[in-house]
Amino acid sequence: MIETESAKVSPMAVKSDLCSQCEMPEPRCACERYCVLCHSQTDIRLCKDGLYYCEACRTACGYVPVGRF
Ligand SMILES: [Zn+2]
Ligand SMILES: [Zn+2]
Repeated sequence: MIETESAKVSPMAVKSDLCSQCEMPEPRCACERYCVLCHSQTDIRLCKDGLYYCEACRTACGYVPVGRF
């Protein structure tokens, strides 16, 4: 039942919670993530605009994580 997904990225089904670097869903992403605003690496979560923010900046800017844990 294992098939190669040659077209896993569909332009019609762009998911905003995919990592912009490796295109993996956030829970599976192993990239080094840091806040785009302050470059902190503490409690980084992907937000709806596709960028990573730390908790302090998310709170300050009102961003909501898109994670589905
Ligand atoms: Zn990644
Ligand atoms: Zn930050």
